Amino acid sequence: MENKILGLHHITAIAGDAQRNYDFYTKTLGLRMVKKTVNFDDPQTYHFYFGDEVGTPGSILTFFPWTNVRQGKDGSGMATEIGYSVPKGSLEFWKDRFEEKNVRHYQITEQFGERKLPFQDPDGLKLSLIETEHKDERKGFETAEVKANVAIKGFHAVTLSLNNNAATAEILTEVFGYKKVKSEGNLTRYKTDTVENAAIVDLLEIPDLPRGLNAGGTNHHVAFRVKDEETLMAMREKVLKKGLQITEKINRDYFFSLYFREPGGVLFEIATDNPGFATDETVEELGSSLQLPDRYKGVREQIEKALPELKQ
Ligand code: ZN
Repeated sequence: MENKILGLHHITAIAGDAQRNYDFYTKTLGLRMVKKTVNFDDPQTYHFYFGDEVGTPGSILTFFPWTNVRQGKDGSGMATEIGYSVPKGSLEFWKDRFEEKNVRHYQITEQFGERKLPFQDPDGLKLSLIETEHKDERKGFETAEVKANVAIKGFHAVTLSLNNNAATAEILTEVFGYKKVKSEGNLTRYKTDTVENAAIVDLLEIPDLPRGLNAGGTNHHVAFRVKDEETLMAMREKVLKKGLQITEKINRDYFFSLYFREPGGVLFEIATDNPGFATDETVEELGSSLQLPDRYKGVREQIEKALPELKQ
């Protein structure tokens, strides 16, 4: 168990307009902005984190919003659908809400015995709400319009599109400890039994699917969760033993990370639970003001001036 992955930690995607992105995730979907910071490698760009009340690993979707970003395109070697867990019986509420708010969405369907409502965010990022087969005990963040009985609980599954599943499946099973569950058509489900939730990766195999273009409305990387830095470094050894390249440990202020590109082309990250988001602000304050890493604290004024205005 120690050296295994504990499901998903976060997923990071690229958006266009920051205000539109913020409004969609906090108002339409009712998630909490748990952290407003900047891209550590490009401090003139925001980095938004949306999740549950405290930003529990497995609930966190993060964005780099770039105004006037060019439109990306889904393809092979990418995460192409994010599946959120919602309470049983809530999909009708969400369908009505999406109709009222002009959110692009599709028919409620069934996949792997679970009802799901696929939809897109304003940048065209593909997501779905899923009434999970298992009982998801997580408590979703509540807002005035999205109450606990319908609130999004966190991730359930992520879908990776690939030309060939084999090499990616090998990483999931042999390095990460996932097990193959079942297939439906060209979609195969993998699951870890180390955690109850955010435990699923679905591999969609399409041999002639062209490579994706990673820009607006597409996912940048998928981060898997480990307990602590010791486990992180043990995972690093396992990835190296597979003959893959992997970064050194990187301090992301709210977690420690490693990045590597899995053989199918998807950028994977492994991230720790520690220290979490309530380090530079209290749980009550999470997301309410711009947080900067130490190296940018001296130039806060310039950074604030360069960032687009955001009405909360
Ligand atoms: Zn990340």
